[in-house]
Amino acid sequence: MVRAQAELFSPPEVDAALFAEIVFDRPLTTAYSYAVPPELAPAVRVGQRVEAPFGRGDRTTIGYCVGLTNEKPARAVKPIHRIVDGEPLLTEPLLRLTRWMADYYLCGWGQVLQAILPAGVRTRAGLRRRTFVRAVRIPPDPLPRLSPKQAAVLSYLRRTGDLIDPEAIMREVPCGAAVIEAVVAKGLAEKELVTVESEPAPKAVREAPAPPLALNEHQQRAWDAIQSALRAGEFRPILLHGVTGSGKTELYLRAIEEVVAAGREAIVLVPEISLTPQTIERFRGRCSTVAVLHSHLSDAARGAQWRKVSSGGVQVVVGARSAIFAPTRRLGLIVIDEEHESTFKQESTPRYHARDVAVMRARLEGVPILLGSATPSLESWHNAERGAYERLSLPERIAALPMPPVRIVDLRHEPPSPGPGRAISPTLERAMTAALKAGGQVILLLNRRGFSTHLHCPACGHVVQCEHCDLPLVYHQKRAALVCHYCGFEAAPVQVCPVCQKSTVKYQGLGTEKLAQELAQRFPGRTIERMDSDAMSRPGSHARVLDAFRDGKVDILFGTQMIAKGLDFPNVTLVGVVNADIGLHRPDFRAAERTFQLLAQVAGRAGRGPKGGQVLIQTYTPEHPAIALAAGHNFERFAELELAHRKPHGYPPYQRLVRVVIRSRNAPAAEAFADRFAGALRVALERRPRSDAPFRLLGPAEAPVFRLNGFARYHFQLQSPSSAQLHDVLREALAAVRPPHGVDCQVDVDPYDML
Ligand code: ADP
Ligand code: ZN
Repeated sequence: MVRAQAELFSPPEVDAALFAEIVFDRPLTTAYSYAVPPELAPAVRVGQRVEAPFGRGDRTTIGYCVGLTNEKPARAVKPIHRIVDGEPLLTEPLLRLTRWMADYYLCGWGQVLQAILPAGVRTRAGLRRRTFVRAVRIPPDPLPRLSPKQAAVLSYLRRTGDLIDPEAIMREVPCGAAVIEAVVAKGLAEKELVTVESEPAPKAVREAPAPPLALNEHQQRAWDAIQSALRAGEFRPILLHGVTGSGKTELYLRAIEEVVAAGREAIVLVPEISLTPQTIERFRGRCSTVAVLHSHLSDAARGAQWRKVSSGGVQVVVGARSAIFAPTRRLGLIVIDEEHESTFKQESTPRYHARDVAVMRARLEGVPILLGSATPSLESWHNAERGAYERLSLPERIAALPMPPVRIVDLRHEPPSPGPGRAISPTLERAMTAALKAGGQVILLLNRRGFSTHLHCPACGHVVQCEHCDLPLVYHQKRAALVCHYCGFEAAPVQVCPVCQKSTVKYQGLGTEKLAQELAQRFPGRTIERMDSDAMSRPGSHARVLDAFRDGKVDILFGTQMIAKGLDFPNVTLVGVVNADIGLHRPDFRAAERTFQLLAQVAGRAGRGPKGGQVLIQTYTPEHPAIALAAGHNFERFAELELAHRKPHGYPPYQRLVRVVIRSRNAPAAEAFADRFAGALRVALERRPRSDAPFRLLGPAEAPVFRLNGFARYHFQLQSPSSAQLHDVLREALAAVRPPHGVDCQVDVDPYDML
């Protein structure tokens, strides 16, 4: 654990000897002390980067200054070499937050800092040094003679009284560069180097602000509670459980308006996939300065956004996962839409969950946080049940629109489809034809990319696998290749079984590409668009398809989970789920929860307009609670059943879970280290006092997908009701054994990826 030092953040005396606490971008649990040489002492600040001698051979290494103190460290310390940044890159709240993350996610504080600072901030991308000019305060005596142009420049400079960009002077006076040079040469103006954004931030497009809507009864009740939390201005986590289309976003907007009116800032997290122009417009239409942070920004643009937020020039930050680290100065509110989304979890170090980090940030900064979803995560639901979160409900859609009726198509009893393909059952086809005939639009969900999902040899049973992963290769017709969806490996399509060489392999399983073919044949003359990450790889294609769909130029929109989230199209009268069972049988304790969420979300796309709408779900397991209860729009019952199922197993949210994956390209080395690590865990466990909370250790075992990306993988699962004790045991074991070269040990606290 990084040393807990209250004085890390209290300013030291400048005159006494000064020592700095530095953390490096390494998996280290300590901060290191250095002396600050007297000539650097006036400039050094907490939150800056410095260069200091570190590690073997005292290599000059960049680290982050996380504390300053006058207290002489017990051991002799080396001096820092240089200060890298003129201004601190990190604010105090972000330092506190990242320190908590390092402790909680069991990684280095320096690693966290390195990960959360956008590259464009570290490299100062997008900044330029430019020479500005201003009038001198005490002009020379006697005054030199000036030409009329020179006099005009001087009077302009005096009028503004500021450092001015020469370009602006030339434009405003107007004059040439030589005139400005002459005024400087005569001692009436001086030059100074200034750092500026090389590209001016895009002008905030400001339309006439949309007026707030009159709230319905449920919204009003929720709003009263939200407003009182905002007025209290303290940490209050609120779970806003509202069915799809119940008007949650309207409440976020009101809350943001209230916070901004009080001179504070709001951070809004949405899943990356929801960062559509439609969403952004809703915020832009109501709030003055909105910064949008998404993954397609250049380093320079990202750096510029960060600096703008940091200078207090932004009121609302909207972004995906990493927007939770926006360096706001006067945070007043955090909103997380679709709080259950698993994309809020980062799958590389630091393996944080943005929702959990957001709750901690709200706590540290003493502000309310709104977590919204139609299908809350069971973690948040459980927190609401036990009173840790306040729960607000919007049980009905706006304008008393009914939730769409859902019909289950039991594929076990459905007659085989006549005609091309077998994805669309006769029942689904009839419903689609009727919906289209009546002028409605159709959304179809099939959560699998590619053409055939696996290649199977009927003679020997072999399934063609990736060279680097224990996963089947997926046939992609357009690319004419077999593709690994995990590592991207590609191979040429095969006809003969690569193992027995006896027979012709069968291309099996249904992906979106194959569905496209079937739809084209079944619905000739209809405009059909596919939306998945293959079809949407070009920038802008996502927005283009959605616009066309909104304008009624597309009849059938089908694709992966991309189409399930957040879309609000009133003319969609039918939503079909081609195969609800995909994902239900994964070796993951959240498989049912995820299936329920996906079905509920996609069902929510239907019936949002006056024409109404319905949902058809095709499945082989209609009795499964995730499917049956999604069909009944019954989240509460599902949560109840699923929680009752998890409790005896000690799965989250009842107990905390940590997963450790040990991997190496050399399988015996991974196995050997997994055994050593198991030994260290056992020692740490035996040392615990008897009174401690129960503890469960599973493993070492081969991970469910043993080979991934060329790595052999072993894993452990540790469970305990006490996260503090999980942390203690793991810290002890991690300190006791170090993985040898070529083996790495990934610690995943509150894991989502169970493969
Ligand atoms: P959710 O975020 O819960 O899915 P939205 O906030 O997107 O729901 O609301 C669904 C639709 O209802 C939107 O078109 C929104 O503009 C509209 N809406 C929300 N609140 C009201 C209201 N009080 N009166 C009228 N329309 C509303
Ligand atoms: Zn692979």
